[in-house]
Amino acid sequence: MRNTRVLISGASIAGPALAYWLDRHGFQVTVVERAAGPRPGGQAIDVRGPALEVCERMGVLAEVRALRTGLRGMSMVDGDGKELFRTTERTASGGFLDSPDVEILRDDLSSVLLAAGGDGIEYLFNDSIASLAQGPDEVAVTFHRGGSRAFDIVVAADGVHSSTRALVFGPEEKFLHHMGGYLGVWTVPNYLGLDRWEVIYQMPGDVWGGMLMSVRENTEARVYIGIDSDEPPAEFLGSRTVSDQKRLVAERYRDARWEMPRLLEYMWGAPDFHLDVAAQIHMDSWSRGRVTLVGDAGYCGSPMSGQSTSVAMVGAYVLAGELKAAGGDHTTAFAAYERELRGYAAANQQLALDHKARKKDAETASHGQEPDTNPTNIGDGFYEVVNSYTLKDY
Ligand SMILES: Cc1cc2nc3c(=O)[nH]c(=O)nc-3n(C[C@H](O)[C@H](O)[C@H](O)COP(=O)(O)OP(=O)(O)OC[C@H]3O[C@@H](n4cnc5c(N)ncnc54)[C@H](O)[C@@H]3O)c2cc1C
Repeated sequence: MRNTRVLISGASIAGPALAYWLDRHGFQVTVVERAAGPRPGGQAIDVRGPALEVCERMGVLAEVRALRTGLRGMSMVDGDGKELFRTTERTASGGFLDSPDVEILRDDLSSVLLAAGGDGIEYLFNDSIASLAQGPDEVAVTFHRGGSRAFDIVVAADGVHSSTRALVFGPEEKFLHHMGGYLGVWTVPNYLGLDRWEVIYQMPGDVWGGMLMSVRENTEARVYIGIDSDEPPAEFLGSRTVSDQKRLVAERYRDARWEMPRLLEYMWGAPDFHLDVAAQIHMDSWSRGRVTLVGDAGYCGSPMSGQSTSVAMVGAYVLAGELKAAGGDHTTAFAAYERELRGYAAANQQLALDHKARKKDAETASHGQEPDTNPTNIGDGFYEVVNSYTLKDY
């Protein structure tokens, strides 16, 4: 086997999944993560189709299923908290409840994937790549906390705003396709006593309102907010600190009713507050030399696709498998990885674009009506795309 020393940047979903498979295939894996430890937070995300099979092959499917949000349904309320609509057939976050899909908190899934990895995987938290220089035989990497090391292959699994991608492919603006909104999420106590339930409060205008769901056996709840804006992240998020971002949300939500004032109070103390652009990443090529991209860094579908996590997990499996199949030859493996997965990634991105178009059409009619916030609502067409890739055996 050639090229056994692999550096992965990012330890959320794609990073730990890739580390697991590369380690299992005999590679020597180092993962560098900017956060001080596994990052808390994130909304419920979905694991579907071939990504469930990836979990099965990793031996973690039972654990992932046990950690699912287990929601029973959702209701929609007005500004006074009066219920306008309720269903036990589906939720806005996870879609139809009688499907085999698993809705799970991002940080719970990340923890399972991190724990599944072999003891040989080296994790460097609280650090990130400062520079990388590709030579004919290796990549020389320096780290922000000091020190330099050589690797044979570097993989960017550091999300939509991947700084590894920026170092190799250029600035984010070249690849980011804005979906027209920003999403925020944070944890609050389940003070309403929701029992595996989701509540939605919609507002007119460019502020979406709020969604609250009880999670982790009703011991806590997560709040989800959204703001329409076409402003690029560099302007909307800019160099704003987390406190600035919280101020921005509070300002935009100043007229919000229902429980929003109290949920915003909790926001100030929430350590896992996360606000980010809803965007896709479109790249002409996923690799350059010895560096490649996996997950959101390479082909994010945006939250509107409902598929970013699943595609990231499938991408990690395929990339590791193709590296194994090519005996570590990165040129062959990267080309095969892209051939194998580009169509699947693009089809999943299209789901989000279709969802966005539908949402726009429905906007005028839907206020106060049954919300159409989940991409699975398009029915069979959604699952046709989800299940259009079959995992190979490597
Ligand atoms: C805190 C958080 C909350 C999220 N909340 C939601 C949500 O509510 N809804 C939703 O649909 N999706 C959410 N996502 C995105 C979702 O996790 C991804 O769409 C999907 O799971 C694919 O994962 P990924 O591993 O490719 O990227 P991500 O999950 O974005 O992970 C990227 C990882 O790279 C790390 N990182 C970033 N830059 C660097 C760097 N320079 N060096 C080292 N490490 C770096 C980040 O800390 C993170 O751990 C969230 C992601 C994060 C990190």
